[in-house]
Amino acid sequence: MSLTKEDILQQAEELDVKFIRMQFTDILGITKNVAITVEQLEEALEGNTMFDGSSIEGFTRIQESDMYLEPDYDTFTIFPWRPNEGGTVARLICDVYDADGNPFSGGPRNILKKVIKEAAEMGYEMYAGPEPEFFLFETDENGEPTTITHDKGGYFDLSPVDLGYNTRRDISLALEEMGFEVEASHHEVAPGQHEIDFKYADALKTADNIATFKFVTKAIAKEHGLHATFMPKPIFGENGSGMHMNQSLFKDGENAFYDPDDELGLSKIAYHYIGGLMKHAKAIAAITNPTINSYKRLVPGYEAPVYMAWSSANRSALVRIPASRGEGTRVEMRNPDPAANPYLAMAVMLKAGLDGIKNEIDPGEETLDNIYDMTDAERKEAGIDSLPGDLMSALGQLKQDEVIKSALGEHAYTHFVKGKTIEWNVYRNQVHQWELDQYLETF
Ligand code: GLN
Ligand code: MG
Ligand code: MG
Ligand code: MG
Repeated sequence: MSLTKEDILQQAEELDVKFIRMQFTDILGITKNVAITVEQLEEALEGNTMFDGSSIEGFTRIQESDMYLEPDYDTFTIFPWRPNEGGTVARLICDVYDADGNPFSGGPRNILKKVIKEAAEMGYEMYAGPEPEFFLFETDENGEPTTITHDKGGYFDLSPVDLGYNTRRDISLALEEMGFEVEASHHEVAPGQHEIDFKYADALKTADNIATFKFVTKAIAKEHGLHATFMPKPIFGENGSGMHMNQSLFKDGENAFYDPDDELGLSKIAYHYIGGLMKHAKAIAAITNPTINSYKRLVPGYEAPVYMAWSSANRSALVRIPASRGEGTRVEMRNPDPAANPYLAMAVMLKAGLDGIKNEIDPGEETLDNIYDMTDAERKEAGIDSLPGDLMSALGQLKQDEVIKSALGEHAYTHFVKGKTIEWNVYRNQVHQWELDQYLETF
């Protein structure tokens, strides 16, 4: 399906659209809107919507803050619910352009497109299928989110008679009305935790879908009086929320990861892609696990990866190879979390995989044992390294990884590291409750 300008204008009229949200994401992956009325739609479709980039996180350019939104016509979608404005609301996902008419190099969607182009030049197209997890929490009398959930459900529990189930169903329905194919939606391990998986698509569409999924989930949860959060580890002692990313490369319409003659059914390309993901995993973590809280999920005991190994057989690995072969042959990277900017996350993973292919990076032997059960000595013997333990270490790894830095480009890299370093320093200066509990009486 490829929509033209005329198609969109016609649909807008037929569906009685009153407002259009021109959407893009900032460097943190937060969806931003410039709302226009239907009267402005034709101009907007020409890429004439201007906004002030200096107020957008990671976009700041003091001298040249005028920026333009170039809509991707194929993302034209009607909201199935009626937001506050009244009247039917549609949206268009946009690329950010600078005043000279060039794609803004710090725009997350532009960054992903650049890596996709690099893949295309090598003959590959990336497909990705995400498994985002999230929590639904009650709100207090002021509408502020709490961390309280009355839901006692667990993994794959059926119909706990509560708001959680109804909300999850309504989120799935809204997504389907917006063109998603929801493949699975289930309760996750922790109380109040859910997962909604939608069908894999090319890398750009999947990143757009994740961005859409996040705000739809929040909007529908709100209608149910709940707060949906993609914070990776909201509750100590419970599983955190991940966003496993299934990924594969296609070449000439065929899955390039599949080789029926190989012992594991994987092609050389697949092994090298895994090798690339493993080689750059520490730097990738800064992008796929971008918050201080992200690293509180990546600890032993909660089904989240901690150690850097790949495996066709167990879920303790960083990179798992799900069982399906043929068309469905893919690798699942398990450390990303849903706080990641989906465009940047996809861009750095693809870049790492392509680097693996270009340099024929050997991923080493797969690990068949449960890595959580191995001793430090056994892991050392097996050559299994660990992911960074906190955001600052991950940023340190990113600083040393020229391949991943080049995927981000100078502008996004500099702003990302700068912003995250400030975040770290603010955090580092706090005195946490844990410290008071631990030290106040002892010393
Ligand atoms: N919540 C787990 C994580 O943090 C994943 C659990 C699962 O999907 N099996 O990654
Ligand atoms: Mg899953
Ligand atoms: Mg899950
Ligand atoms: Mg999974």
